[in-house]
Amino acid sequence: MSSERRDGAGPGRRSPEPAGGLATSPHPPRVEPSRARRGVARPLAEWTSRPRILVTNDDGVDSRGLLALAQALRRIGDVWVIAPETNQSAVGHLKTMMRPLRIRERRLHDGTAGWAIDGSPTDAVSAAFLGFFGHGFDLVASGINYGNNLGDDMTYSGTVAAAMEGTISGCPAFAVSQALEGDVDWRLAEVAAEVVARNILERGLGPGELLNVNVPALPPEECGGFEVTRLGQRVYLDELIERLDPRGVPYYWIGGQPPTGVAAPGTDFSAVEAGRISVTPIHLDLTAKGLLRRLPEWDLALPDSARER
Ligand code: MN
Repeated sequence: MSSERRDGAGPGRRSPEPAGGLATSPHPPRVEPSRARRGVARPLAEWTSRPRILVTNDDGVDSRGLLALAQALRRIGDVWVIAPETNQSAVGHLKTMMRPLRIRERRLHDGTAGWAIDGSPTDAVSAAFLGFFGHGFDLVASGINYGNNLGDDMTYSGTVAAAMEGTISGCPAFAVSQALEGDVDWRLAEVAAEVVARNILERGLGPGELLNVNVPALPPEECGGFEVTRLGQRVYLDELIERLDPRGVPYYWIGGQPPTGVAAPGTDFSAVEAGRISVTPIHLDLTAKGLLRRLPEWDLALPDSARER
């Protein structure tokens, strides 16, 4: 499965100095960035080579959902997997800047090769686009997350942030998350991911755009199909739990009941509640358009006293 393996010929894989070289260079070797590969959407039948798909998640490299996504997308492209070594759920768009990152090869449960990074989902995608594999990608797919990412979850989700990092890197991207109810059946999410991936590759996404996909906990035969949605509103039921550690010092844990949501018509909550797969278009331009119009009315002027300081 050579296509499943990291390309060892990438510029960053070369030895930092010739054999028998002397002292370490004052400038450490750099890995050359590899931006999005082609970026030209067209019918898959017209692609001259298989699409290159980067698969990641926030639940960690051992997640069954990650494996399900990789297996589903191998039907339409060549898949590279790099994901956090441990569960990084709800880390948002965390980028590791104050310590080094280690990336180790890790077999997935089906025996194929993947890579584990001891950082965040964003770190995984960054490493890929900054040259770790020695080439770019046509698509970033993040998931299948263990639990839906609906409405305000967007602001916490490492799954969605990984897709956003793909978008920032100039590559089309989507996130896919699975509702939890009893034993997880990944079949519907696998089909959903394949359909969405195919559509993105064939039709493309604009700059700053990505898709957030949420799948109900249903077998494929009971699902009502796709619904294009907007973000709804989460209702969090978090509580600050205080306990005592073995030395009698209080510690705190954010716990409480699982969140609910407002299933207003047209929202992602409403679609998933009705047994449909929500597809929500997301844009990285977070500007509040209404507030942008109101702000000029505010009294945003430097006070005269500021000039005297
Ligand atoms: Mn997660």
